[in-house]
Amino acid sequence: MLEIEYNRFQTLSELKSKVLKCRLCPRLNQWRQNVSRNKVPRFQNWEYWGKPVPSLGETEARLLVVGLAPAAHGANRTGRMFTGDRSGDWLYQGLHQFRFANQPQSSKMNDGLKLIDCYITAIIHCAPPSNKPTRQEIDNCHSYLDFELNNLKNVKIILALGQLAFENTWKILIKNTKVKRPKFQHGLEVSIHNDRTLIASFHPSQQNTFTGKLTKPMFNSVLARARKLIDDSRRTSLK
Ligand code: SF4
Repeated sequence: MLEIEYNRFQTLSELKSKVLKCRLCPRLNQWRQNVSRNKVPRFQNWEYWGKPVPSLGETEARLLVVGLAPAAHGANRTGRMFTGDRSGDWLYQGLHQFRFANQPQSSKMNDGLKLIDCYITAIIHCAPPSNKPTRQEIDNCHSYLDFELNNLKNVKIILALGQLAFENTWKILIKNTKVKRPKFQHGLEVSIHNDRTLIASFHPSQQNTFTGKLTKPMFNSVLARARKLIDDSRRTSLK
């Protein structure tokens, strides 16, 4: 595994700058630039972002959402996680419904979106071909997520979108222990060191939402659960 040097970023904002300049994965570097040059007809007039996509949100957030990767014509086009694609439509509608975002749409940078008590990251920050990163590429990006999990100090709930997000988040949270990873399933909830809760959800990808594998009630149920756990933790801390 290529370990990114921690001393190159000591804060979350330094990490964002580092991500923006990162070129550790040659295949992804080439792919996202190719996508940006060979635009799909509906986005011919867009200036694609075409770079690694940094995380976004409040550094004091209690909800952390971990996705898979930027989508080729979504975040890789707009430069913001889950922005400009169908997955993002689902995610931000849900976040807004449960008071983690000020609006239900996320179409482009500077569209007024603000996350509330929420931070969004992904296990890799560059769009991969067919949404399938290699093991090496996930490992290359691992240290960024590791740093976020260790430095987002207020996070109580981690919502992992999809099996890969769940497994890689688990790997970081449970490192140096022999706890066996539970089998991924939608709605699975695991307490981590009695301090945080990891919730697993199917990814709101078109593949899952178009086929009905993930429905709105299913997705809303995990967001409602995140909301409840966060509200309950607040009540407990106020006692
Ligand atoms: S996927 Fe992560 S490690 Fe690889 S080039 Fe992009 S930001 Fe760097």
